[in-house]
Amino acid sequence: MVVEGLAAYLEYMKSLCFGGLQLSHQPFIQSKQAHGAQPHQNQLIPKVAQGTRQPPQPQVPNAPKQVPLKPTSAQSILSLVDMVNMASPEQENRTKAEAIQGSSSADVLHKLYRAFCNCEACPLSTTRTKFVFGEGPADADLMFIGEGPGYDEDISGRPFVGKAGQLLEKIIEAMGFRRDQVFIANVVKCRPPENRTPLPDEMSACAPILKRQIEAVNPKCIVVLGSTALKFFAGPNASITRTRGAFMNWENRRVMPTFHPAYILRNPRAKREVWEDMKAVMVELKSGLSP
Ligand code: URA
Repeated sequence: MVVEGLAAYLEYMKSLCFGGLQLSHQPFIQSKQAHGAQPHQNQLIPKVAQGTRQPPQPQVPNAPKQVPLKPTSAQSILSLVDMVNMASPEQENRTKAEAIQGSSSADVLHKLYRAFCNCEACPLSTTRTKFVFGEGPADADLMFIGEGPGYDEDISGRPFVGKAGQLLEKIIEAMGFRRDQVFIANVVKCRPPENRTPLPDEMSACAPILKRQIEAVNPKCIVVLGSTALKFFAGPNASITRTRGAFMNWENRRVMPTFHPAYILRNPRAKREVWEDMKAVMVELKSGLSP
């Protein structure tokens, strides 16, 4: 009789959207009352719980300790999803850079700049003054790629404007171009503190930006300045001394590695080798064989 009454009461509560309500060993009201709290007058309390006391739970001697349950399959799937979502800065930047489309090379470059000028993918973002994207015509035949901004570049936001930049400008002019006719960029876009060499993680995080810049400009020839920039094209063990002076093929592009202008400033005799390399670039540009 009592059980029937209870069943009817539970049905009634279910119809009021309290479908989860069940006869429990520890009804809600008990814990409230145990702390001396009076139920609010509008609080729905199952009558069955009122005034009932729970019998003490039997103590099982030497009961095995409860071992935490293995994650359910739903939880495992969730952590897998989390892991997939935890993309590396390089992956995140690659996805972002590859998604950029535009009506022209200039449009792609503008969109790239806007997408990355506030980049925070690596710690260099915390010490930079300005993000140094690179500059030049969006359809330049010739592209120069350096290592990363130094002091002057960090302040101005422009690549190669310090002492090494002035020497680069002379080299460009000796090749028969003006600086504003070639595209100049770096592997990393933010200055490493104290002008140290960029770390592999910093280069990887920035790499998708340079890759997209090269795709957009689509130059006939790329001149790689120095050993750090060379690593972007030829991997971490590439040596500029062994590689310079001969064209490399990178993603179907003609790439000429040569010494960095800062190296020429320290070792003026390297100027002759750099000039040999630039002559080969000029021949390549004139030959029309480049893409
Ligand atoms: N050195 C580089 O590699 N890049 C610059 O922009 C300036 C100096």
